[in-house]
Order: sequence, then structure tokens, then C-alpha cells
Amino acid sequence: MKKTANQREYSTSFTVLFLLSLTLFTSCSSSKMAANANAAKDSIVYGDYFTGNTLRYDFYHSGNSNNEYYTFDCVMREGVWAGSHTALINPFEYGEQHFRIVDASSSKVIYKNNYCTLFNEWQTTPEAASVERSFPEGLIFPEPKNDFYIEIYARNKSTKKMEKKHSHLVRINSYNIRPFEAQYESIDIHIGGDIEHSLDIVLLPDGFTAGEKDKFLASCLMWQNALFGYAPFTQNKHRINIRAVWAPSQQSGISEPGNGKWCNTLLGTRFFTFDSERYQMTEDFQTVRDIAANAPYESIFILTNTDKYGGGGIYNFYGLGSAGKTGRTGEVYVHEFGHSLMGLGDEYVEVGNTVSALYPANKEPWEANLTTFVNFKGKWEDMIPAGTPVPTPYDPSMLNMPQGELTIGTYEGGGYLEKGIFRPTPQCMMNQLRDFCPVCIRAIEKYLDYICK
Ligand SMILES: [Zn+2]
Repeated sequence: MKKTANQREYSTSFTVLFLLSLTLFTSCSSSKMAANANAAKDSIVYGDYFTGNTLRYDFYHSGNSNNEYYTFDCVMREGVWAGSHTALINPFEYGEQHFRIVDASSSKVIYKNNYCTLFNEWQTTPEAASVERSFPEGLIFPEPKNDFYIEIYARNKSTKKMEKKHSHLVRINSYNIRPFEAQYESIDIHIGGDIEHSLDIVLLPDGFTAGEKDKFLASCLMWQNALFGYAPFTQNKHRINIRAVWAPSQQSGISEPGNGKWCNTLLGTRFFTFDSERYQMTEDFQTVRDIAANAPYESIFILTNTDKYGGGGIYNFYGLGSAGKTGRTGEVYVHEFGHSLMGLGDEYVEVGNTVSALYPANKEPWEANLTTFVNFKGKWEDMIPAGTPVPTPYDPSMLNMPQGELTIGTYEGGGYLEKGIFRPTPQCMMNQLRDFCPVCIRAIEKYLDYICK
């Protein structure tokens, strides 16, 4: 596939970054809405089971390349629950992990959500073959009224089926549940609707000192303008809220360990994550949650005070991007948000890449915008015009065509691979940072419909 100079530059520069971002997006079943059939069949009346607050369960996610285990840290009572009161059992099959809240007396699953983690990405690095590590993590959910079990599931490395890895009985009246005290200012950037029926995004600063508040807020406005510049977010402003938490760091800038630069910042963001220079992330997800909790939120995006390009996006974990001036900062924000909001896969190809543990040919990716045809049903087959060939022929001139003139089909290449995996159109935000393709747009809208119920 011939690309323009810009596109080639983007692709080669950010390959490793996105590869790592998507490391955990290995295969499983498709986006069929039947994840937890038993629980989904029974409607759950929010007021019967939940107090209205947010509860947070902190733990350490530990292990090596083959094993993982979880050790409990603490439970914290945070502010008002910002999520839906009816979308309590996530029906999508996105993610490498999920967790369930089970009512202890009735054994009924009263809440379930899906996610991915930085730990799962680390498991694929060479280091994980010889060293055990622990990553601080935390899960948030509506506070149950009664005692409950929290159960954490992760995909089996071979079968990709979810397996229960951790279960813990939490006594809701325990004096060990800590109250959270807000200590940072929450600033409204855009308020589209009430928190119950909206997607609540929180923007967090890292590496901005007390004197750099205006710079951070300017970055927040840029982030907002970038997001609302693309369908389907443009049309969904009325059900998206964006708030910023102003939490300054001791030092300005972001650590670059490989260049000998260390900065004392609030979230501990750094380049050279997992030895990839442009992979800018923080491993301290509990501190990220501490800062995010100063505003009602469901989705986290971190803006870092650096001109150096880097970042990533992990599904239902966090997205991260540099606030400094790089050519296509706004597009990169939206691309990473596509990963962190709902785990959209990268649709681009790395020339010469033919085999990947990320997308084995015998497994269907769980991402809504990629397929290996192992289980295509329920993805975008209904959007493909009758008679469209498989694979759909690709011509480089299609890169210059308006999105609306492109035929939705199954174009070979995607998920970094040249062969054996297919994407919906030649162009997309998840490919060359153009407009989202119609398949991604529909998937995002479906996800927003669920979150905003
Ligand atoms: Zn797409």
C-alpha cells in the first residue's frame, strides 16, 4: 500500500507506540451484545442495589508473562456515580478483562464492566519473561448497598476465554472503607447533559506547574475542539461532558529516562515505557484515579506538558497525549480516544509484517473494526453492498476520495498486518488520522447509546 509522505511518516513514527497500545487487543469473539447473558436477562433496579456514590477497589496486578495474580490494597468511597443507572451490565465483549460486582446474599451479578490494562501489555515484553512486577490498579463502580463480591476476570492466553482470577468479599459497613476527599479544582470545559445520561470525560494534567494553569486549560480546549471536530462526536455534544481537574506538578515537563531526564510530576508519566521512546504512559493508575476522582467521571484522558510526541490509549483505562505542539496533535488525541473509549483497533498496515501474536489468523479480534472472518457475523457485514468482492480491491487513489464515496467492504490489511485481517474502508481515523470510517462511527454511536442510557 502506497502512502503519502505524511502518512508514511506517521505510520513509521508511531508504529511502536500504537503496537504497544494495542498489544492487549488479542483475539476473542466479536462485538455481539451477549457477553453476560445470565446477568443481562435480569434487569437491575439501580435504587434497589446502589447508594448513588462511587466505590473504588484498589489492588496490585502482579505476575510475569505467563501468570497473573491480584493482591488487595483498599476500598475507597468516592463522590457521586457518574455512570448510567440502567447500563449496569456491559453487553459488549470488548477488552482483555472484565469485572463483576456480585450481590453477596443473592449471588446476582449487579454490575459488570470491561477494560484493558497496561499490565497486560507489559506481559508481552521481553522483561516479563524473566521478572515479576506489580502494577497499581483500581476499579470504580456504583457503591452497592449491601455486602458484595468483586470478581476480576482475564482472558486465557491460549483460548482467549475469560477466566476468574480474583474474588473478594467486601463488607459494605466495614470501617476500613476510606472516604475520598476532593482536594483539586474541577473545571467544566463542556457540559452537554446530566451526568447520568452523558459520557463524562475528565482531562488530567501532568507536568504542569502551578504557574502553568492557563497552558493546561488551553490544551483542554484544544482537546475539546479536536474531539467535536469529528463525527460522530460532533453530533453527540449534547450527551458528552468534559471536565478538567487542575492538579499542578512540582516540576514542569515529562520524564524521558532514555535521555537522562527525570521530572517530579504528579502522575509520574514518562517516555520510554517498555523501552519504546514514544510510548508515553504512567504505570501508577491509582494516582491517576486519585486525581480523576476530583470530578465525576467515566473516561480519563491525560494531557502532558511536553512538545515531544508520545502517548497511547488503553480501553477503559486511560488515554494520553502530549499537549505540546506537534503537527497533528488534535488528530492524535482523537485517535487515542478511539482506543481508550471503546478499544477501536488500529486499521493500518506495517509493510512486511505478516505474523503477529496480537491477531492470530484463527481468532476473531474483539475490536469492532477488524475481522479475520473467524466470526464476522455481528460486525459490519450488514453495511457491505451486495456483490462487493472479498477482499475488496484497494487502489491508492482511494486515499484522496471523500469518505462518503468509498465502498464499505473488507479491505485486506489492518491491525499492523498485511494479510489475513480486514478493515472496513481504505481510510479512517484509526488508520491515517482522517475521518472515522462508517463502521467506526456506528460502533462509537452504539457504545454512546449504551453508556448514556
Ligand atoms: Zn474505522
